[in-house]
Amino acid sequence: MNVPFLDLHAATRELRPEMDEAIGRVLDSGRFVLGAEVEAFESEFAAYVGAAHAVGVGSGLDALHLGLRALGIGPGDEVIVPSHTFIATWLAVTHCGACPVPVEVDLRTALLDPQRVEDAIGPRTRAMLPVHLYGHPAALEALYDIADRRGLAVLEDAAQAHGARYRGRRIGGHGRLAAWSFYPGKNLGALGDAGAITTDDPELLRRLQRLRNYGSAEKYVHETIGFNSRLDPLQAAVLRVRLRHLDAWNQRRSAIAAYYLEALSGTGLTLPVCMPDCEPAWHLFVVRSAQRDRLADGLRARGVETLIHYPIAPHQQTAYADRSIPSQPIAERLAREVLSLPLGPHLDRTQAEQVIASIREVH
Ligand SMILES: *Cc1c(COP(=O)(O)O)cnc(C)c1O
Repeated sequence: MNVPFLDLHAATRELRPEMDEAIGRVLDSGRFVLGAEVEAFESEFAAYVGAAHAVGVGSGLDALHLGLRALGIGPGDEVIVPSHTFIATWLAVTHCGACPVPVEVDLRTALLDPQRVEDAIGPRTRAMLPVHLYGHPAALEALYDIADRRGLAVLEDAAQAHGARYRGRRIGGHGRLAAWSFYPGKNLGALGDAGAITTDDPELLRRLQRLRNYGSAEKYVHETIGFNSRLDPLQAAVLRVRLRHLDAWNQRRSAIAAYYLEALSGTGLTLPVCMPDCEPAWHLFVVRSAQRDRLADGLRARGVETLIHYPIAPHQQTAYADRSIPSQPIAERLAREVLSLPLGPHLDRTQAEQVIASIREVH
């Protein structure tokens, strides 16, 4: 494979001395659960996204799940989710005992369509879970307007949107609650699983700090039925290093995306669309083609690795087979047509040119 989808080795190499130093600091501290390193990352990450507080947890899925629990979502409640997203968005709702209600995304952007959200609100709807999919900000103004008018809570799934901006302000700085993943392949990635929730609300902060730590704020005093999902200090130390490089790495992603957009215009591929006032984090560069599988095969034969995000719509997963969820034609079409091109801070110009040349040969 000449052009890997994402080069995590290069990411590790570039920051190796800084990460070694950070890991050594945790080893020397002798503190391996919560503590100063986690608190330092939480305050640095909250400041970066423009929120008052952050709570570090074990994964992005836990961030979504605990975020919904902090909002009081539970059995009998319905939560609006996009029809096209990573399965974790839906699982978080299901783990609360609530029901995920899919709303079709906009075919062009693959983001929640505010009009369809409004139409889907029923007597049991308690919250909506917009996803900034592929690093593109969702239509926050329209969605928060609906949420305020209809009395719904909002949890943003920001797992792919570290550093993305909506109306000039970073994702995480617009609403009350956003959930983040630091899975290694994300724009801000750890050396394993990790996640966080950001919020401006001191009461949500207190609930989240209890929920991730056995329902406890004081050792051996348990106020709620909590979980064990605490951001690891080793991961926090590594994330502090990588956070300092996030903007520079996002700029490199953005430069590749700009080159792809220009070089692929006129090829007949459907290209990603940026909405006005949105600065995407370019987590993924996703094109659409009716001949997706043929295109992916041709690129593989030319040494270009691609991935599909995501090949099976959530409502068609076996995990949700017993729920008789109605068909979601847009999500099903996206699952058939989307293809993610190689993109990352360590993809060089020659590799990007090879991607383009290969597409021109195949498509
Ligand atoms: C990665 C991701 C998650 C889940 O994060 P994990 O850390 O892997 O649990 C949730 N939602 C979206 C949109 C994601 O891309």
